[in-house]
Amino acid sequence: MKEARIPDILARAVREGRSFLSLSESLEVLRAYDLPVANYTVIRSLDDISAAGKVGYPLVLKLDSPDIVHKTEFGGVKVGIQSPEELRKSMEDMLSRVRSASPNVRLTGFVVQELVRNAHEVIIGGLNDAQFGPLIVFGLGGIFVEILKDVVFDLAPVSVEEALEMIKKIKGYRLLEGYRGLEKASFELLAETISKASFMFSELSPYVEEMDLNPTFVSSSWVKIVDARFKLRT
Ligand code: ADP
Ligand code: MG
Repeated sequence: MKEARIPDILARAVREGRSFLSLSESLEVLRAYDLPVANYTVIRSLDDISAAGKVGYPLVLKLDSPDIVHKTEFGGVKVGIQSPEELRKSMEDMLSRVRSASPNVRLTGFVVQELVRNAHEVIIGGLNDAQFGPLIVFGLGGIFVEILKDVVFDLAPVSVEEALEMIKKIKGYRLLEGYRGLEKASFELLAETISKASFMFSELSPYVEEMDLNPTFVSSSWVKIVDARFKLRT
């Protein structure tokens, strides 16, 4: 089963003395645990641009590197690319910017991802508490987390029912019922995702210090994780 495989990805990264998984490795871990990730493909060189056709335009381009965890700060995310020409240009721009600003950063390629729209933005996280062990974290995305600190914690793992309780504890949870033309988020699918993520995190917590699935998009009929960060124990 996957238990044997996933620690392999992590064990290799730990052996290499790495502090983080790259985005493509992180998405691979999520997929192995059957978590819903937005459609994506990994492009290792500018020669492989045609592979982006599988994802479809418009799309999102992200730098893939074990050394870059806050991609936006590095100019490593471009949202809404419309054509293969624009994709090539954006890749070249990203490469030259990173190469000149941070020549020592390891670049393993790019992640090309479907552009997700018309959905609620939430975060799911995991952290290890010295006293309580692995915890699962849930909150609304964007300013709700950054400024209002509207998040809830529970001991991991949580069942789907416990995850539903977590969702309802968020102060802003009524926003998930829909606002400004945004339809209601599926609480069931979201709770299922939080629960699955919590089981994954408890299993990986011997290797993983922190997990951040931010953002995770939720609509009335699907959940799509577009970013994932795993901080390894070193
Ligand atoms: P990082 O957090 O490392 O800067 P993200 O992958 O989270 O990079 O991307 C930054 C922001 O871009 C996200 O918070 C989100 O608002 C937007 N974004 C990223 N990927 C997508 C996507 N596939 N569809 C729509 N918006 C996206
Ligand atoms: Mg992010």
